[in-house]
Amino acid sequence: MSEPLAIYTCFDGTVPVGEIQHERGVWKGINHLPSWAFFCPRCGEIWGRVVRTSPAENQHWLVMQRPCVAHGDGQMLVGQDLNRCSQALLQRELLAILERYPNV
Ligand SMILES: [Zn+2]
Repeated sequence: MSEPLAIYTCFDGTVPVGEIQHERGVWKGINHLPSWAFFCPRCGEIWGRVVRTSPAENQHWLVMQRPCVAHGDGQMLVGQDLNRCSQALLQRELLAILERYPNV
């Protein structure tokens, strides 16, 4: 029987924008299931967070350097399995792309 998936809630600023599921213990070779925050190297804002909500114990944080929507792509998802993302999160990512490329 496989382990249940870890559940993460994504925040754009302080606004929840959807959920993503990950295999427990597998994320870029890190096995302690971190939550992570996105730090923009241009404006210095922590503009997004992906917070592990289940399992809730043993919380750890990583800070990832990634530009916000105003200074880059503002994407939260890079390399994740889109089938494990909520529809709301996929919509947020699409809107971030459209904001960056308004003339497409
Ligand atoms: Zn920025």
